[in-house]
Amino acid sequence: MPELALEDLVVPQMADLAAYTPEQGRYAVRLDANEAPALLRPEARVRLAEQVAGTAWERYPDATARELREAIAAQAGVSADEVLVGVGSDEVIALLLTVLARPRGRAREGLLVTTTPTFVMYRQSAKVRGLRVMEVPLDDRWNLAVDSMLKAIEMGSPNIVFIASPNNPTGTTASSAELERVIEAATGALVVIDEAYVDYARGDHLELYRRHDNVAILRTLSKIGFAALRLGWLLAHPELVRELDKARLPYNISTPSQQLGRVVLSELGGEIELVRRTVIDERERVGGELSHMPRVDVTPSEANFLWIRTERPAGEVFADLAERGVLVRSFHRRGGRLAHQLRVTIGRRDQNDAFLSALGEVA
Ligand code: PMP
Repeated sequence: MPELALEDLVVPQMADLAAYTPEQGRYAVRLDANEAPALLRPEARVRLAEQVAGTAWERYPDATARELREAIAAQAGVSADEVLVGVGSDEVIALLLTVLARPRGRAREGLLVTTTPTFVMYRQSAKVRGLRVMEVPLDDRWNLAVDSMLKAIEMGSPNIVFIASPNNPTGTTASSAELERVIEAATGALVVIDEAYVDYARGDHLELYRRHDNVAILRTLSKIGFAALRLGWLLAHPELVRELDKARLPYNISTPSQQLGRVVLSELGGEIELVRRTVIDERERVGGELSHMPRVDVTPSEANFLWIRTERPAGEVFADLAERGVLVRSFHRRGGRLAHQLRVTIGRRDQNDAFLSALGEVA
């Protein structure tokens, strides 16, 4: 058999990329993935199970996910033709970067402008698709550096600008006024405001979406208790949704995900509210405790995690926590100012206490 010459086949940018692999292994307390704490009540579990029991297993799913899109649209106060649903917002990010990739002006590749640090899949997904990426550092308090963003946009003429608000991993938000400056500078580009953590924040940016044709909003069920469903969506101009739909794989959303997503949105608001309240209360409590702890510094957060600076190298603190059965996320491998930063997801009270007591020992 002739040998497979992978290096002749694989697109060159793969050489610099690594697969997205969350930490494996067994930990008593997992606070590494920004998941919600397990608070789903038995009645809600039964409701979800009943819904799945009626599935027509022999049929393909509804290719247009109509009922789910209608439930999303009703909640956001938009029409269903402004909604595109993906297998997590990850898939929507990939679709945007696939379709809106045409090089502008004299550029040879499409360009993504985003911030750093931010959600790593913007960069990864863009690189996979051959786009160039400009990452604008957040300022020294981890807020959007608006003037630098404007410069990057002016220099680069991006196809897409991604801004997460609240931002992962910092928990910081951008104000409407700041975002509006970016939106107005980014003429000809799509500005995607990623609101994955919006349920934990003081407000959303739907109003910017309503006022500007070049704005789209990204949301997900993953952070509010339903990561297992893999459902995320984009709110965007119907014309853009139609273009993205051409690149979407047929039947991307399974029937159980469509139906359960609809039940979650239309009937289980109380479960989401319980998660939201619990996490926000716990975030404030844990943040307060950390602010009194020596050798650590915490950034105010509007998300379901905290961004913590440790005096010791974060890699060492991470390893010591892991040894005590507590898994958090460390960014030390990225070096620079991230070498002393950890991100911890807010969990149930007992998990948070386990984290606090372990950190107290090792910080
Ligand atoms: N956006 C942001 C800002 C995130 O932090 C994440 C998850 N880490 C996602 C999008 C992707 O979420 P999902 O694909 O689960 O919807």
